[in-house]
Amino acid sequence: MKVRLFQPNIGKEELDGIKDVFDRAWLGVGPKTKEFEEAFRSFIGCNSSVGVNSCTAALHLAVSAFKFQKGKKVLVPNLTFVATAMAPLYNGLEPVFVDVDEETLCISLEDLEKKYDKDCVAVMPVHFGGCPGKIDEVVAFAKSKNLKVIEDCAHTAGGKYKGKTIGTFGDIGCYSFEEKKCMTTGDGGMICSDDIELLNPLRHSRWVGMNKDTWQRENENLKNKSTSQWYYEILDLGYKYNMNDLMASIGLAQLKKLPEMNKRRIEIIFKYLDGIKECKTLKSALPYDKNVKSYWMFMLRVKNRDRFIEFMRNKDIATGVHYMPLTLHPFFRSYENNTPIAYKVWSEFVTIPLHSALTDMEVDYVIESICEFDKLNEREI
Ligand SMILES: *Cc1c(COP(=O)(O)O)cnc(C)c1O
Repeated sequence: MKVRLFQPNIGKEELDGIKDVFDRAWLGVGPKTKEFEEAFRSFIGCNSSVGVNSCTAALHLAVSAFKFQKGKKVLVPNLTFVATAMAPLYNGLEPVFVDVDEETLCISLEDLEKKYDKDCVAVMPVHFGGCPGKIDEVVAFAKSKNLKVIEDCAHTAGGKYKGKTIGTFGDIGCYSFEEKKCMTTGDGGMICSDDIELLNPLRHSRWVGMNKDTWQRENENLKNKSTSQWYYEILDLGYKYNMNDLMASIGLAQLKKLPEMNKRRIEIIFKYLDGIKECKTLKSALPYDKNVKSYWMFMLRVKNRDRFIEFMRNKDIATGVHYMPLTLHPFFRSYENNTPIAYKVWSEFVTIPLHSALTDMEVDYVIESICEFDKLNEREI
């Protein structure tokens, strides 16, 4: 038995969506993109959403929306995927690395207060593995210091904290539809906010700064047969970051399946938690809570992590590590900023298979293998 770490849950529904787009022979940004933006906006429960071609692009544009003065600082957790810290750099801003909470692995409120200074303009909390952390308290602190809050929601889609959707606590929430994430469009991302005026200019930024996309011009052309339908204006610095109708058609099908997929992942998480509860040398890396309703991955803290990875590889079970602290990477070494918890905890991290297409048999096989490792490991420690 070969068990994959992540796997998109795709099939007939997505193919039907793609066929529809093929039949209309309009693959670029168009009506499906609009329909998917509207469906996702309604699912999250916010006022506005803009579809882009990745969450990395979403984070870049989200930070750009505030037109911060160049050289200012943005607070980011040191335990995250690199895209979070690239977003300030793309905008000529400096990432300031903050330590994580030892239990939730989300940005540490205590260290956030320490690292804040008057040059900071924003904070980018990451919902690690789908974990909300203490997002309400982070937002309250940010408001008290006039910091904008951009939530990196790449690890959640529809997750809840105290009954409110994760991604709607701060000023902007950015989601990922990369193939391994909670739902996918191949690659893709969404920028969500309650502030319609804040997001409107981003519709131009994602389309090389043009005030009209091809679809709008085509429509105007059909309607009034005007000779000036070619006309558009460049309003701002822009990027080629748009979502397209092919991606959106997959997204619409995925969104319908998302509650089912979220539910299945939680079911598996609780099977894992139950299966490893007697283990002595490893434990769950995160506090999982059924009320959160959307988690992306399942992670362990294992003594002898690298031995564990090898053991699982021999069982044909894929594993991963999320993440090595960013300031340990060559590119970010000069941003080293005293984050002892991140440095201490990450060496025990190992991500084990979690996706909605995992069968019970596969989950049992993974649990059995973990327990077998734990027995060997216990003798050696
Ligand atoms: C995956 C990920 C991103 C980037 O998402 P893409 O859609 O692949 O660009 C950003 N932040 C975090 C925390 C992620 O895990």
